[in-house]
Amino acid sequence: MNLPLIEKVEQAHTQRFGAAPAIIAYAPGRVEILGNHTDYNEGFVLSAAIDLGIAMAISSAPSSACVLRAVDVNEEITVELPVKAPVEKPLWANYVLGVVNKLSGAGRIEKGFFATFAGDIPLGAGLSSSAALEVAAALGMGALANIHPSKLDLAKLCQAAENEFTGARCGLLDQISSLYGEPESLVFTDFRSLEVESVPLGADVCFLVANTRVKHSLVESEYNERRAQCEQAAAFFASTLNHPVKALRDVSVEEWKRWASRMDPVTARRAAHIVEENYRVLEARRLLAAGNLKGFGELMFQSHHSSRVNFENSCRELDALADAARNLPAVLGARLSGGGFGGSVVLMVHPAEAAAVGREITELYRAVFGHPCDVRVVKPSAGARLV
Ligand code: ADP
Ligand code: MG
Repeated sequence: MNLPLIEKVEQAHTQRFGAAPAIIAYAPGRVEILGNHTDYNEGFVLSAAIDLGIAMAISSAPSSACVLRAVDVNEEITVELPVKAPVEKPLWANYVLGVVNKLSGAGRIEKGFFATFAGDIPLGAGLSSSAALEVAAALGMGALANIHPSKLDLAKLCQAAENEFTGARCGLLDQISSLYGEPESLVFTDFRSLEVESVPLGADVCFLVANTRVKHSLVESEYNERRAQCEQAAAFFASTLNHPVKALRDVSVEEWKRWASRMDPVTARRAAHIVEENYRVLEARRLLAAGNLKGFGELMFQSHHSSRVNFENSCRELDALADAARNLPAVLGARLSGGGFGGSVVLMVHPAEAAAVGREITELYRAVFGHPCDVRVVKPSAGARLV
């Protein structure tokens, strides 16, 4: 955990509110490692909590007023309990207020509080600073009010807070990863049963996140279109196969091969991506258990290729990074991470090579696009906790 960050928040809190915090909660950001668009198809994802996060210091206030302070942007807001609706601004306050609102449904937040937070996750870089903020708030404020939901209930509560108070239609991956992360391990999530499992990875690898900072327009409509195409494909298989198909999760690679020629070609390619990606995640879990990092990395390359040609959620910036990574012997695997159409590529490397690979990737990207991408080393780390 980042001790200077904890100390910074503790000091800022004491300075501003004249009392030491009663509670400090810390929650990390996350990175999606394998399993692309599989979550809403009730499939599988491998992700990791990272070594960047948000710390929140909290203490009781004498009235029903809640004072929230964001150190990084030097802003503060005071709201009265009960919190019933989002505020117009600042935007960051709604991640916290949404949590206050949802926690009140799980128990009681009837006493006001002071909360001070800061973090080191770059905002909007696909590392889920928003989930880290919600999870730190939920853990900390829950502890202050003596409400202790399970990890899964906390994740759901934070997701509902983000959905309802900021309008972002996030799934559960971000919050689950932030809560369940373990050092040197990946988080395996089954998005049908919501069972979560820790998969040991070892200390011999870390990840680079290369952010293109590109966000192609139409991301939202493309995303909705992909979801609709996945539903169409599932409906086709439900009416074709002689076993129940609720989602593409229920379709095997063999079944896809057998029936794909009867489908509309675009829908068939979308389905191929999901069906094979689910298979890749399960295969990756098996390879990791056998200590086969190279085989795991190969699946990451395959995942990107499938995004590129089947799901068509890549773009030239992401492809350039994935291609550059493919040509560097020190890179074990690389793929786009997150929704696609811009955003980041995640690369798996040995820690000793991370800095050199980061420099090479940046230069290769600059050579094509005239400006560098933004590269960061992240390490699979422990999930959210009270400090
Ligand atoms: P991501 O989750 O990928 O980082 P989002 O757009 O979902 O991007 O969430 C980013 C938002 O979360 C920011 O606009 C801000 O409102 C809030 N946020 C996250 N971290 C902080 C922070 N350290 N200080 C203030 N606001 C933050
Ligand atoms: Mg987010």
